[in-house]
Formats: sequence, C-alpha cells, structure tokens
Amino acid sequence: MKKAPLQPLSGEEITGRRVAAQVLRTDLLHPHYGGNKWYKLKYNLEAAREAGYETVLTFGGAFSNHIAATAAAAAQHGFHSIGIIRGEEQETLNPTLHFARGQGMHLHYFSREKYRHKHETQTERELQALFGRFYSIPEGGSNVEGVRGCTEILSDIGAGFDTVMVACGTGSTLAGIALSLRPGQRAIGVPVFRNGHFLETEIRSQMAAFLERYPGGAWNQEPSLSLACDYHFGGYARQTPELFAFAAAFEKEHGIPLDFVYTSKLFYAFYDLLRLGAFRQDERILLVHTGGLQGNAGILARQEGSKD
Ligand SMILES: *Cc1c(COP(=O)(O)O)cnc(C)c1O
Repeated sequence: MKKAPLQPLSGEEITGRRVAAQVLRTDLLHPHYGGNKWYKLKYNLEAAREAGYETVLTFGGAFSNHIAATAAAAAQHGFHSIGIIRGEEQETLNPTLHFARGQGMHLHYFSREKYRHKHETQTERELQALFGRFYSIPEGGSNVEGVRGCTEILSDIGAGFDTVMVACGTGSTLAGIALSLRPGQRAIGVPVFRNGHFLETEIRSQMAAFLERYPGGAWNQEPSLSLACDYHFGGYARQTPELFAFAAAFEKEHGIPLDFVYTSKLFYAFYDLLRLGAFRQDERILLVHTGGLQGNAGILARQEGSKD
C-alpha cells in the first residue's frame, strides 16, 4: 500500500501559539478501507490466510467503519465475509450496510441483548453451527494482530514529531502507536465516549498482550501516554450542533473532511488543548486522520430523520 500523505495545518491559531501541526492522512490510503481499520485488518487477514481460512467473520454496529472496511478488504483479498450486526434488521439498508453487502458481505443480525454476548464461547459455537469454519475478528479489529498493524502507522515518519494525537474507540490504534514511539515522543488519545479514563488500563493491557505475543522487538514499553477525556460530545456516536459546525468550518478552511464519530472530536480536542496551552513552543504535533468518512452519510440521514 502507498504511503499516507502528510498535510501541514496552517492558520493563525497554530502560528500564534508557535507550534507546528501536521495531519497524517491515512484516510487517503484506500477509497474503501483507508484509515486505521486497514492497519487492524492487515495481519488478521494474513493470519486467516496462513491458517487456511476462506471466510472471515466480524462484529459491528450498523454504521461501523470496521464492518465496511472488513467487507471491502475481505473481497479484495479473496475471502468470504460475514458481518454480525448489532440490532434489528431495518427495512432499508443504511449506506454502511448497503456498501458492505455490495462487497459481498453476508449480514446477520443480533439483538442488542445477544450482541452483548458476542464474544462468548456459546455464541461462537452457535455461529459455527450456522456458518461453518471462519476466522473471527473481534469488534473493531481490536486484537493482538490489530495492534500489530497499528505499530506501523507512524513507521514512515520516525522522529518527525513530538506529540501524536489520535481518536480512541477500543484504544488498539493508540496501543500500536504507543509501542512504536521513540524516546521523547508522547501520545495523547481522545476517547470518543463518556468516562474514557478506564481506557488507559485497557490500552496498557493490549500493549502487554502484544508484547507477550511478539516479544523482542524494539518496542517502547514505557511510552508517555495520556488521554483527553472531555471531548466525547455526549457519548459514542453522539454529536452536538457545535461539533457539526466545527467539522464544516474545518473542512472549509483546510480542505480536510472529518467524520462525525472520531476525527471531528479529535481535531476539536486539538484546537481546544492548543487554546488551553497544552503544547510548548515549537512542539511538533501530529494528528492522525483515521478515516471513517463512510459513516457520515448515514449519520446525516439519521440526523435529518430525527428532525421530522
Ligand atoms: C475505529 C476508529 C477509531 C478508533 O480506533 P480504536 O483502535 O478502536 O481506538 C478512530 N477513528 C476512526 C475513524 C475509526 O473508524
């Protein structure tokens, strides 16, 4: 896959604070599975192939970037795919699920209650009875292989930044990034849901699991890592008019589209932390654009619908 382009951010707010900010556009890596989800899938698909699987099965909500990316990447790499979708089947498919099915993904729905038990042995057995042999990828692609892929997100950049910022759901992306940090570099994660503080323990345990599986690499085992937990805008997949307005103004000024679940909260957090003086003079900040734009159409449609 090609390299993700780096795009400097200009503007009075940034130059006035005498910092430098750049955006790593992983969203541009591929039209259908760009963003962090490809990094999380890469070694999962490799493991599936090595173990002789023909089908991958994974889990996600109806707007899930991971579902869309898995459907496309599986098709591209010659796998059948099955998506276990949280919630009841709707009469019309939203854009995410429509796309996933168009890529050949078989969609299977779990009630919210049942979905909560998706990773339990009993459910796994039921799914095997239904679908036969498959390679299972957890929700969000967040396993050790997913973390492994994310250790490569910054590999082309090396020492070119001081602070990296990334939006967090499961935290696997940040776990992989943290493992790859050089001495003196730090990472700030922005959880996109309420009460994100617990995620730090979660990230540390994902790093530990990775190090157990892949010991001996030149990994940063004590990375400088913090979370900015006040930018959830009401919770996961919640938005406020202020967030929509921010994303629109940002795209207009910089020509960079943001998704409404992850990256708009990340970039909002960056500007707020900048105003709050969280960065020192000459600090070089790298913002990771993790993609997710496929979800916007469905979110805007839902937004319109809720006004009726
Ligand atoms: C899934 C996703 C994230 C969160 O990644 P985690 O590894 O689950 O923390 C961030 N940004 C976008 C656009 C995503 O789709």
